[in-house]
Amino acid sequence: MAKEELECSFCGRKKPETNLLIAGLDAHICDRCIEQAHGIVLEESKQSDSSDLSAELKLRKPQQIKDFLDEYIIGQNVTKKVMSVAVYNHYKRLLQPATKDDIEIQKSNIMMVGQTGTGKTLMAKTIAKMLNVPLAIVDATVLTEAGYVGEDVESILTRLLQAADYNLENAEKGIVFIDEIDKIARKSDNPSITRDVSGEGVQQALLKLLEGTVVNVPPKGGRKHPDQKFIEVNTENILFIAGGAFDGIDRVISKRLNMQAVGYSASMSDDVVDQDHLLQYIIPKDLKDFGLIPEIIGRLPVLTYMDPLDAETLRAILTEPKNAIIKQYKKLFTMDDIDFTITDGALDFIVGKAIEYKLGARGLRSLCEEILTDAMFELPSSKEKKLNVTKAYAEEKLTKTTLKKLKAVS
Ligand code: ADP
Repeated sequence: MAKEELECSFCGRKKPETNLLIAGLDAHICDRCIEQAHGIVLEESKQSDSSDLSAELKLRKPQQIKDFLDEYIIGQNVTKKVMSVAVYNHYKRLLQPATKDDIEIQKSNIMMVGQTGTGKTLMAKTIAKMLNVPLAIVDATVLTEAGYVGEDVESILTRLLQAADYNLENAEKGIVFIDEIDKIARKSDNPSITRDVSGEGVQQALLKLLEGTVVNVPPKGGRKHPDQKFIEVNTENILFIAGGAFDGIDRVISKRLNMQAVGYSASMSDDVVDQDHLLQYIIPKDLKDFGLIPEIIGRLPVLTYMDPLDAETLRAILTEPKNAIIKQYKKLFTMDDIDFTITDGALDFIVGKAIEYKLGARGLRSLCEEILTDAMFELPSSKEKKLNVTKAYAEEKLTKTTLKKLKAVS
C-alpha cells in the first residue's frame, strides 16, 4: 500500500489528516481514536470499580472497616467503631433486596460532635475512599433558606453529582459530609425576633434530604444558570454524615449531668464524671438544647463524638498514618535522592508548638512546611544529599514571626 493511502481502520481518516497513525498487524489507529478508546476504557473501569460495592462489603465486616480507618486515623476508637457499624448497616440496607416482611431498615445517618481539627472530615473521607463512593464535603454555614442570599440546600447534591462525575447511579450511593452543622442551630428560642434564614429554615430544608426523597438538582448548581435542566436525585441511599464543634455543648452536658446527679445522687456519685472529656456523655437531648430541631436529630440517629487531640496523638499523627505528613516529606525528598531524617526531639518540638499556639492537627502541616521550605528550595540543586532535622534546626527555622503568622491563619 502506498504511504498516503494509509488510513485509520476505526474512523477512516487518511494519514495526512491525523497527527499520528499507529500500525498494528492488519490495521491502523489514529491518535483521536486512541484518545477516544482510552476514555471508554477509563469510564468502564470506573463503572466496574464502583458498582462493586457489594463485593466490597462482603469483604469488609465492621471490624475490617475499623482496621482500614486505623491505617489513616489515629485514636478516636469509639467513633471508628460506631462509624464502622453505621456504615456497614447503611450499605447492607442499600444492598438488601425488597423483602415481604414489613421491616424497613432506616437510614443510619451519622452525627459527629468534636472540636475542629480532630479528624471529622478525615473520617468521612476515609470511609468514602474505602468504599470507593463519591464524597461531597459541604459547609452548612453557606446554606440558606431558598430565596435568600447563599446556597440552597439542593446545592449539596450538585456537589455530590460533581464528585461523581455526573454519574447519577454512583452519586445516589455516595456520602455527603455536612460540616459545621452546629452553625445552623436556632439562634434564639424566640423565632419571631428576626427571620432566621440560615438557622431553623435550613434545618427544615435539610430534613427531607436526610430522610430520603427525590430532589430536583441543578447540575451546575446555584442560581447563575437559570436555563439548566434539572437532574432528579434520589437521596434514599445517600449516607449523610454531619459534623460540628458545638462550642459550649460541654456546658449543656455538664448541666444535665449535674441535674441527674441531684436526682439520682446515689447512682451518679458512684460514677465519677470525667470533667475534661464531657463529650463522651453526649446524648441527643443535648443537641436539642443546643438549638437543633428534634426532627434533624432524629434523622441523624447515630451520634458519636471525637476526642480532643493530646500531645501523644499529635505526635502519632505526624508519623504513623499511612500517609502521615512526615512520610509525605520523606517521599518528596527521596524523589530528589535526598535522605531526609528527623529526630524525636524535633518532632516533640513541632508538637509542642502546635499545642502552645493552639494550631491543632491542621497546624502540624504548616509548621513542617515552615521548617522545611528552605531545605526544599535549596537541596534539589545542591550537592548535599542529606537532611537531618534536629530540634535546633527546627527552632532556627521557626521564628516568632512565622509562628504568629501561622496562628493568624489557623
Ligand atoms: P475536622 O473535620 O474535625 O475539623 P479534619 O478531618 O479536617 O478535622 O482534620 C484536620 C487535619 O488533621 C487533617 O488533615 C488530618 O490529616 C489531621 N488529623 C486530625 N485528626 C486526626 C487523626 N485522629 N488521625 C490522623 N490525622 C488527623
